[in-house]
Amino acid sequence: MPGRLQDKAALITGAGSGIGLESSILFAQEGANVLLVDVNLPAAEKVQKLIADRFPNVKSAAFKADVGKEEDVKAAVDKAVELFGRLDFNNAGIMHPADDNALNTEEKIWDLTHTINVKGVWWGCKYAILAMRNNPVDEAKGLHTGGSIINTASFVAIMGAATPQLAYTASKGAVLAMTRELAMVHAREGIRFNSICPGPLKTPLLMDFLNTPEKRDRRLVHLPMGRFGEAVEVAKGALFLASDDSSYMTGTDFKVDGGLTSAY
Ligand code: NAD
Repeated sequence: MPGRLQDKAALITGAGSGIGLESSILFAQEGANVLLVDVNLPAAEKVQKLIADRFPNVKSAAFKADVGKEEDVKAAVDKAVELFGRLDFNNAGIMHPADDNALNTEEKIWDLTHTINVKGVWWGCKYAILAMRNNPVDEAKGLHTGGSIINTASFVAIMGAATPQLAYTASKGAVLAMTRELAMVHAREGIRFNSICPGPLKTPLLMDFLNTPEKRDRRLVHLPMGRFGEAVEVAKGALFLASDDSSYMTGTDFKVDGGLTSAY
């Protein structure tokens, strides 16, 4: 049986760890050719080897790029188009961990966080749009075949975080706002944009931030399911948004958060 992403191509940023790693494996399992982009090339190469072993019918490659540099993002999209002929999916997702609040956050931390989290997403969208415009249009659906862009935001873009992470929170709010506008501007071109809002996950990004059992326990109290999420649970949400199963969805803030944003 063909997979849910059969013959599609996916460019996944942050593919060397966490959500990006799990999405890369899941997308390949569902038949997509995948370009695994990460600033940490050895991490992306490790994922590529795993995919090549498990899914020999899928094309995969690792690519070094810093999403905080426009020329790197363009080079990554060009590479995906060169390798796979077309590009169907772009997922930008990174975080600069910093203990920052309004009183003591440093401008350089603010700027770095926004360069990677906001400009990185903008550039990812920009070059993906240009590439997707070359995808054939499915006349029946009025959609560029496979034109789905997913931007990773966060639950902190919706809720106030009690742990100081102001620059990060502000950057994730920008991802939501930007994604909604892009969804409206490009809806008639058949390119869909959705944000995915993960709750707290058991990945290096959060576990390095909540680096003591006390800090983790304090956060766990607020989680309706009483546990941190797994990266693969977010990857499954991303798979839905990438596939044609979500063909009438654009501009959403898709929450995979164990109920956190509905909690009192
Ligand atoms: P992770 O730290 O496990 O993985 C992030 C990956 O991104 C790493 O492989 C890293 O090398 C790569 N990366 C970092 N900076 C980069 C850059 N400039 N260019 C290219 N690649 C870069 O993180 P994760 O938990 O999988 O997070 C992925 C996304 O999900 C992030 O945007 C994060 O803000 C968001 N998110 C995570 C959580 C959580 O609890 N983990 C919650 C909400 C949102």
